[in-house]
Order: sequence, then structure tokens, then C-alpha cells
Amino acid sequence: MSFKFYNTLNHKKEEFKPLIDGQVSMYSCGPTVYWRVHTGNLRAYSSWDFMIRAFKYTGQKIHRIINFTDVGHMVADEDMGDDKIDKQAKSQNIDPFEIANTYIRSVLVDFKKFNILGPNGEEIDETIDVKSMDKEKWAKLGWARATDHIEEMIEIIKKIEENGYTYSTSQALYFDVSKFPEYTNLSLQPLNDKQVGVREEVGVDPEKKHPADFVLWMKNVGKYKDHLMHWQSPWGVGFPGWHIECSAMGTKYLGEYFDIHTGGTDHIPVHHANEIAQNYGAFKHHVVNFWIHNEMLVSADGEKASKSKKNVYLLEEIEEMGYDPMDMRYYFLTVNYHVPIRFSIEGLEGSRKSRISLVKKIFEIAKNSGADTSVEFSVQLKISTVIEEYRSEFISNLEDNLNTSGALAVVSKLFKSTEKPFDVIATILDFDNVFGLRIEENVLKLYETEGTAIGDIPVEVADIVRDRDTARQNKDWAKSDELRDQLIKMGWNVKDTQQGTQISKI
Ligand code: AMP
Ligand code: ZN
Repeated sequence: MSFKFYNTLNHKKEEFKPLIDGQVSMYSCGPTVYWRVHTGNLRAYSSWDFMIRAFKYTGQKIHRIINFTDVGHMVADEDMGDDKIDKQAKSQNIDPFEIANTYIRSVLVDFKKFNILGPNGEEIDETIDVKSMDKEKWAKLGWARATDHIEEMIEIIKKIEENGYTYSTSQALYFDVSKFPEYTNLSLQPLNDKQVGVREEVGVDPEKKHPADFVLWMKNVGKYKDHLMHWQSPWGVGFPGWHIECSAMGTKYLGEYFDIHTGGTDHIPVHHANEIAQNYGAFKHHVVNFWIHNEMLVSADGEKASKSKKNVYLLEEIEEMGYDPMDMRYYFLTVNYHVPIRFSIEGLEGSRKSRISLVKKIFEIAKNSGADTSVEFSVQLKISTVIEEYRSEFISNLEDNLNTSGALAVVSKLFKSTEKPFDVIATILDFDNVFGLRIEENVLKLYETEGTAIGDIPVEVADIVRDRDTARQNKDWAKSDELRDQLIKMGWNVKDTQQGTQISKI
């Protein structure tokens, strides 16, 4: 393995060597669970999904944590704004833990739809009962929920306090950035540029010494006297500042030194600068070797796409427009993670066409090589080999700061090559362990629907066809009839063949 990544900490591309050979320890800042994840968030998490898939592909083990932020993240990332979850809970008159449960569930569902693997590279089980989960059960899967770790946050804040990096006002306990001269190293923004939020509802603490000082513990006083989630602490009843959760959970699970910390570039000047300061305050050394950041998905007019600006799509909105989540995933593969995406429907449409043509091409090559049925396809695939020359070119692209667009270009080269047709297919399907585009599944759908499953008919119809075939294999004739009627109602003729259900437009 010889990966190189752009390390924001040192502002250059650097060779990546994990602390433990063959195992990568990694923390990814997780979603704030007060709303559905949007296409901007998916840009972030698919970038890290490509990364862990690339590690897995090259034989690395992964020890990774993704957190769920369910307390303390203020609107506009300010210290004294409104807590996003508290605000949502009050406006809907629902318990904040319930709000978080609802959106944690939706994260799992949306990630699964987007073929994002769980933190440690395993398939996500989106059906788990979120209410029945506790800290240990989450941790086994690599997830960590902020409110399950209040004790750890208090402990790490105590360390920071003992080491002399804090001061207290009547409203909060702050980290004093003047005590950490390296504070601006990550963002390279002069301290004086830090502005306190100008939004009207942001109440500024007059006792705060510098605008860049940030909250470690917020007391339930003043603006926050009715904050719904609160806990006892040495600094009074209150709740943690947003940044401390990542320092506490990262070091709890991954240790005082670990390899990679990821997040969007929006986190560089505040959240991650603060996390580095906290880590230093608690341990007197840096904790993370590589800080890696994905660039933003911006709207057509160039503004950062965000929940609060409401200029962003949810995954289900993309689906309602007739796109498969894999169209979006393909889009993300074509723009490397460190390049901004100016999102447009035309761009998405282009990706849809390219993805469909990729799947169809494989189907055609397979058919032309005599694989007339899905069974023959699978048999041929088993006796084919991945072509080493292309595989190593593919890996070189991934190793070069996760050049996914370059890795995708190797597929075009393969199509133009004179290699054996089924070796070409086997090699592309092998690459799909990293792309995660569900290529094989889609090719099999084409077999089931005589080449019409994607592009010409909606994927949900293909899903019903597949369910019907399963029902018939299980001799569940009632179910099979019910699904046939459903297909007819949706406008499709149904024919039973030896290869299974075949459909055509009525
Ligand atoms: P949040 O739920 O806002 O805390 O964001 C979760 C993750 O998504 C963070 O790592 C953010 O940096 C990332 N993120 C948020 N908005 C965007 C965007 N428009 N483009 C890319 N990444 C984003
Ligand atoms: Zn974080």
C-alpha cells in the first residue's frame, strides 16, 4: 500500500502510513441528526466510503468511528446560537431524544440506499431498532452517539481545565485559544478574522475574552435556561459544546493517537481547529496524523448547499425525480473528493446516462459472448480472471489522493481493450467493490427484464420482478399472482419463462 493524501494539517499531499501496519484507524465527523441527510452530506460520506472501500480493497483492516451529533450543534456553527436539535424538538413539541432517534434511523436508511458501508466497512442493517441500541451495541458497529458520552466529555474537559486552557464566565466554560499558539495552523485564517455571528438571535456573552474562544460546557442559564437536554457537571447543570464530543469519542475508541480524521472543508476553520486545540489541551500533543477534508457540494449559484439554507435535495427528492441513488453516486465518483461540486440536474442526468451505458455495455458484451441467461452470466464470471495490469492502474489512481475519476477512466480503457470479454467484465465488477455502484445487481436485472430494466423502466418495477421470481422459486403462487397484478396495473405485460418473469410495456 502506498497511499498519498492531501493532509490539511500540513497543507500538502503526504505519504500515508498507518500507525499499525495493515490497520487504519479513522474518525469521521457524523451527521447532526435533526433532519434528513442531504446531497451535500452524501457527498461527504460517499467520499469516505470510497476511501474505506479502497483501504479494504488493498487489504487494510479498518477501525473507524462515525458519530451521531444529537446535542450542542448550534445553528450556523455559532457558540451562542440555537441548538439545532433543541430547536426542532421545541417547534414540534417532541422529546429531543425522539427527534434524534427518528433521524438516526433515516441516516441508516439513506446510507444503505446510497450503498454507503457502515463505519468499519460492513453492510449497514437499516432495520435495527434504534431505540433498543445502547452505547456498547452502537460501538460494536462503529457508531457513537454524542449523548451516550457525556461522562467522557466531562472527563476530557476536566483534563483541559487542569492543564490550564480554560476560563469560566457566568454562562459557559470556554477554551482560551490564546493559550494554544498553533490554533490557526489548520485554517491559516488570522485570529482577528474570527467574527462572532451577526444573526439576531445570537446572544454574545459579554464576559467572553476573544471571539474565537469556544464553549466546552454551556450552563443552563440565560438564553439556555430552558435547554431541554442537560446534565450535572463540575461547571453546573448544562450541556456540552459541540466540538468536545468528537475529541471525547475519537480518543475513547481510537486512542490518544490515530491515523485519519475526516470532515467537510466547512469544518476546517471552526470545528476541526477547535478539536485540535481541545486534543492538545487534554493530551499535550496532536492526536490525529491526517486531517482530510472533502470539498463542498454547492448549489447552482455557488452557495454551500445546507439544510438551514434549504437549497439542497434530499435523496428521496432525487428519487422522486426518477433518478436511482446510484446515478448520484456515479456523479460523486466523477468529481474527486477534494474538488467542489457545483450541483446541477444536467450533471446528474449526464451521470445517469453514463451509469446506464456502463451497465448496458456489460450486458451486451456478456450476451455477445454467449451468456444468454443470468445463470450463464454467473458461471462465466466464476471462471474469469481479474486483469492484473488494469487492477494495478486502478489501485494507483486510488492511492493518488483517492483519484476516483481516474479509477473510473480505467473502465473506459478496459472496454476499448482486446482482452477476453469476460475478463473485462470480471475486472470491472471487481472495481465495483470500491465504486459501490451495484453494477452486477443491475446487469442481472437486465437479464430478468430482457434488457429493459434500467433506463427504460423504473428500477422499482425491476425490484417487483425480482420479488416475483423469488416468490415463484418458493412456490408462493398467491404472492406471485399478487405481484403480477401489481405489474399489470403499473403498465407491464408479464410472461413466465424458464429464465423467470419477463416483462414488456403494455
Ligand atoms: P452536518 O450534519 O451539518 O454536521 O454535516 C455532516 C457532514 O456533512 C460534515 O462532515 C459536513 O462537513 C458535511 N457537509 C455538510 N454540508 C455539505 C456540503 N454542502 N457539501 C459537502 N459536505 C457537506
Ligand atoms: Zn466532529
